[in-house]
Amino acid sequence: MEKTSLKTGTQSILEEKILDWDSVQKSFDQSFGTEIYTSWLKHISLIKEYNDHVVLGVKTRFFRDWITSRYADKILSELKKHKLSINRIEFKIEPENINNKVNFSDTVINKITDIKNSFLNYNRLNPSLNFDNFVVGKSNNLGFLSAKKICSQLSRYNPLFIYGGVGLGKTHLLNSIGLELSQKNKVMFISAERFMYQFIKSIKKNEMVNFKDFFRKANVFIIDDIQFIRGKEGLQEEFFHTFNTLFDQSAQIVISSDRAPNKLDRVQDRIKSRLSGGLVVDIGTPDYDLKINILRKKISDYQLSFKENPDLNEEVINYIAKNSNSNIRELVGIFNRVVAFGKMSKKSLNVNDCKIILRDIYNTNKVISIDKIQNVTSNFFSISMSDMLSQRRSRPLARPRQMAMYLAKKLTTRSLPEIGRKFSNRDHTTVIHAVKTIEKLIENNDDMRKNAEELKSLILSD
Ligand code: ADP
Ligand code: MG
Repeated sequence: MEKTSLKTGTQSILEEKILDWDSVQKSFDQSFGTEIYTSWLKHISLIKEYNDHVVLGVKTRFFRDWITSRYADKILSELKKHKLSINRIEFKIEPENINNKVNFSDTVINKITDIKNSFLNYNRLNPSLNFDNFVVGKSNNLGFLSAKKICSQLSRYNPLFIYGGVGLGKTHLLNSIGLELSQKNKVMFISAERFMYQFIKSIKKNEMVNFKDFFRKANVFIIDDIQFIRGKEGLQEEFFHTFNTLFDQSAQIVISSDRAPNKLDRVQDRIKSRLSGGLVVDIGTPDYDLKINILRKKISDYQLSFKENPDLNEEVINYIAKNSNSNIRELVGIFNRVVAFGKMSKKSLNVNDCKIILRDIYNTNKVISIDKIQNVTSNFFSISMSDMLSQRRSRPLARPRQMAMYLAKKLTTRSLPEIGRKFSNRDHTTVIHAVKTIEKLIENNDDMRKNAEELKSLILSD
């Protein structure tokens, strides 16, 4: 299992695949269908390509929001077919004809990554993962303080070993250290996986001497996700020697891992003892307060960069913090998604809207059935199920029926004909008419809007 994934990864990196945007576009056309492709995806450009992510250009903010909220996941999986190592997409708004403005982060990125196929290619520091935007709470305080400490006193704690679960901020901290120290030091920042790819590549090309020289020139060596070396003997051997050389030269070494050093099974004991020989700190799962503070920080970042308010009220913020899992990456993803939807629907969101937007994240196993919608709706309006499904057209029956059809359209992924069939074999045009009627009523009639909202929350709440 491990072997195959390792092999495909190695192959793709050995070829140093550079995305061929035309063929990516072709595959968008095929997998999304020509309509979506010509109206949306065709207009996306490739601005920059990194090993693990790409920066894509779009013309307007609206365009970006629309694409991220609807197609981002699928775009990512398409891109992965062309380049396996990509696991993130960034969108950049590039209005036509005003492309010449260069901002600070661009220059940093250019400086670090423009040199393709050279050893400098390892150092992919992300300018947006820095100490200033790392929000500190109980669970990550120690990690944060240690990271700051080694920046002010190199080699005082050597190595610094930071461990913790997925999406808790390890890479963010390591990257912050790299940024902070790169002004005055020779910083090497690399994931263990990338380290291995380069190692194998150097062996194949007979460039081991360069490889060794290169890494051993650093006076700050930062290696992310060291758990990757588990079970890989050759790699461990090389890592051990690199570590020792650097350590003897008093280079600062920083390491992250998904588990504590002594829990790294299938890693040589001598390496484990080196790893735990300095300062070992763990990052825990965020509590409610930290999640709230991260959301607040995201909101103020948003205000700063877009000069507008993302329009999330207190209730919504609390809801997201309370209902999200203990993974900060996911929390950030949810934030982006809610904000994008708010922008598109041009209204301030309430908790119900959030429930709907997030239902596929929170209730991945919970499928809302049309039966349930019919049940809740008929109860709500105090009519019987058989009356609701009957052919009678009196308003006290027709409205609840239309409401249930509307909800079925909004809350399930069923097609119009499927919904029609569930309502005593009605035609799909009847369903369209019902959806339109209720939409209009919701817009113009306060009672109707309240009914719809209450029903939605009843249906979603259990
Ligand atoms: P890990 O490497 O532990 O899997 P990351 O460092 O990649 O996690 O963090 C996942 C996401 O969460 C990133 O977008 C990161 O910027 C964000 N993040 C994590 N911790 C914090 C924090 N304390 N403050 C702000 N953002 C955070
Ligand atoms: Mg990470």
